[in-house]
Amino acid sequence: MADSAPPRPPRPCPVCRKPVERESPHRPFCSARCRQIDLGRWLAGDYAIPGEPADPEEEPG
Ligand SMILES: [Zn+2]
Repeated sequence: MADSAPPRPPRPCPVCRKPVERESPHRPFCSARCRQIDLGRWLAGDYAIPGEPADPEEEPG
């Protein structure tokens, strides 16, 4: 068997871009702090979908 495939690099933390340890309990974040930061962004509406219609099936006219 050829071992040509390179080992997968650890995914960087989506908040601070630091490498996350495989065994990290906070994955995909590097730490509980970064997880809280990401959660805060969610609550702040950073990821909200703009202009989503409530009833797409109900079209006027
Ligand atoms: Zn982080």
